[in-house]
Amino acid sequence: MIQFALGVDIGGTNTKVALVNDGGDVAGIETFPTGRDQAALIANIREAAGRCRGAATLRGAGVAVAGFINSARDRLSYNPNLQWLEGFPLRDAMADALGVTVALEVDSNASCLGEYRFGAGRGSQRFLCLVAGTGLGVGMIIDGALVRFMGECIGDAGHVVVDANGPECPCGGRGCAEAMVSERTIVQNAQSGATLREVIENARKGDTRAVTELAAAGRALGIAMASLSQIFFPDRIVLAGGLAEAEHLVLPAAEAAFRRTVNTEARARVEVVKASLGWRATVIGAAAPLLL
Ligand SMILES: [Zn+2]
Repeated sequence: MIQFALGVDIGGTNTKVALVNDGGDVAGIETFPTGRDQAALIANIREAAGRCRGAATLRGAGVAVAGFINSARDRLSYNPNLQWLEGFPLRDAMADALGVTVALEVDSNASCLGEYRFGAGRGSQRFLCLVAGTGLGVGMIIDGALVRFMGECIGDAGHVVVDANGPECPCGGRGCAEAMVSERTIVQNAQSGATLREVIENARKGDTRAVTELAAAGRALGIAMASLSQIFFPDRIVLAGGLAEAEHLVLPAAEAAFRRTVNTEARARVEVVKASLGWRATVIGAAAPLLL
């Protein structure tokens, strides 16, 4: 018998609610603005969930949220873009609203788990997943378990330093990977569209500045992958998120920079590949722990 769970992805801008089955397929999906009000967000998720689930019996709901969560995994503890949600008992409020068991997870962990269970991470023992979109999230799974040591995730690994002379980062650091590959940075530097998606489209049409900026982002990602490899020794690295959709404009530059800078063993053994679930990875990975 097929099992179903809801996957919810609460982002800084939009929230997605999806019905996910135990094969990792997404049936219904709804997207709406996250807004800035706790009660309204819960009500919007409940309504969308009602439409998505149809007649399906749910094993529960997995909720992915951008930012650090507390060690009890029941609320968001830190995200400067979702400050109004920090400290709110999100897991229990969702369980009350939906009438099912709820598991709360960091969004980059959920993406990583989605790819590991159903996508490009299958079979990996030491799986590193970089999610490059609005910012740069990182998740890692070692022998089947997510790495958790800070904020219930792999810390702020997206802020690993890749260029000591690079731009200042909103985190207070300098030359962080995220500062160099975030949507805002790429859009600002490429001057070829208002969103990352538009920059990618224009690069595909031959806009040289857009092509150059995406390759630069790829190089920064490759150096971040190399630095993280020195600590975590992955056997496979996957690039997910909106930037991964620019595959041929980003991945070759990332892989070249990775192989130029990383240690000898990793250079020979580690695969760098594109995620295979696209934007679905986060809702699928959020629901995955409920689907045994
Ligand atoms: Zn930073």
